[in-house]
Amino acid sequence: MLLTITTTYQPATDLGYLLHKNPARAQPPTELSFGQAHVFYSEVSAERCSAHLLLDVDPVGLVRGHGQPQQYVNDRPYAASSFLSVALARVLREGLTGRSRERPELANTLIPLEFQIACVPSRGGEKLLRGLFEPLGYSVDAQSLELDERFPAWGDSPYFNLTLRITATLSSALTHLYVLIPVLDDDKHYWVGEDEVQKLLRFGSGWLETHPLREEIAARYLKHRRALTRSLLAQLEPDLESVDDVNEEIPVTEPAQSLHQQRLETVLAELRRSGAKRVLDLGCGEGKLLRLLMADKQFEQITGMDVSHRALEFAEKRLKLAELPEARRARVTLLQGSLTYRDVRLEGFDAAALVEVIEHLELYRLAALERTVFEFMRPRVVIVTTPNAEYNAQWQTLPAGAMRHSDHRFEWTRAEFTDWAKRVASSFGYTVRVSGVGLEDALVGAASQMAVFTLVGDSA
Ligand code: SAH
Repeated sequence: MLLTITTTYQPATDLGYLLHKNPARAQPPTELSFGQAHVFYSEVSAERCSAHLLLDVDPVGLVRGHGQPQQYVNDRPYAASSFLSVALARVLREGLTGRSRERPELANTLIPLEFQIACVPSRGGEKLLRGLFEPLGYSVDAQSLELDERFPAWGDSPYFNLTLRITATLSSALTHLYVLIPVLDDDKHYWVGEDEVQKLLRFGSGWLETHPLREEIAARYLKHRRALTRSLLAQLEPDLESVDDVNEEIPVTEPAQSLHQQRLETVLAELRRSGAKRVLDLGCGEGKLLRLLMADKQFEQITGMDVSHRALEFAEKRLKLAELPEARRARVTLLQGSLTYRDVRLEGFDAAALVEVIEHLELYRLAALERTVFEFMRPRVVIVTTPNAEYNAQWQTLPAGAMRHSDHRFEWTRAEFTDWAKRVASSFGYTVRVSGVGLEDALVGAASQMAVFTLVGDSA
């Protein structure tokens, strides 16, 4: 079993710090109950660095002591399976958990990564391989292995040599491999119980909740034990608090209107100005913007989307949708979905708003969000708001360095947001205008910030 990790991040040799394995030194093998694991490097330069995890499974050791005669001839020593995941967790623990003593900031940095895994069994074929990894942003290259090269007529085996490429933190990518290798194999060499549910919740946090194949992943990971799978899926709903819990104290000098209300009004004004008739509220939460949109006849079709069922239930009640006459009810649609996966139901709209949403996604998932919104949905106008991290110092109740909300994964300075907005605009053919929202401080800017993207060639 062989896993190769390559990066072209510069200096590429920093991979050694992320893996806690010095490329300049030979690593002693690690003894595992089912064999030996070796780590070595095949290429070490400032431009490119490749580390390998080689797992030497002892097939006789595996069946020894089992009392009954067992099958010696099987794929276990060679196929990438749950053994590889266990070895990953043992031997590359620091890489998996993202704890680098020497390079803590690098552990949180998105770096170009390539993974090659030899002989991956995919019970579900190339379709499953792609279905698992592509939605997470990987480019997938799967070379199918013939059953026996002397007899091509026998066709292909369920095994693949797999290459995955992504720009991500090493830890997030290793976490995906850790979970998905046994899922592809659809087997585990050990018993699964409630512990595995907890493990999957932990390692799946931030990506499994909204993965289009989450049910299949859960069932396979938990060896098709129905009760465990049900328990997992019930706990998988992302526990995102409402924006009402935001630590945005209203300073005495702030006008009576809360910052959030100002933000919503500002976004509403932009949507009006754009002339949009069919509008999307992406990450609509409990529907505060939807309510404002419903009060304005300009908006003929209003669709709110959120990943959280709970938030949508709340929105449905808050907007009293059930009590509306049929014609007015038909104007509003609430959909459960995710901003990181393409969804054809959200295509063909004039404008989309993402109010205080992007900071709830892990940074490495933003690339996926960019494509779903700007490439696939592709509305004429996209409005994005996010906190201005520089302003946080103005809130005395907010501890220094803290973020405004426990579910925020990042908060950007004005320069960071502007850079992002400009890059996205130029990659997808939009122009962009960035401005502040809310009370403005001469030094640190406004409390919140907004980018209005307009599709090039559109005069709005
Ligand atoms: N826009 C609303 C809510 C902001 S809170 C308002 O301004 O009041 C952020 C919202 O984003 C939450 O409701 C959360 O469930 C949603 N969210 C987080 N990640 C998401 C994703 N990947 N796809 C869709 N919605 C997401």
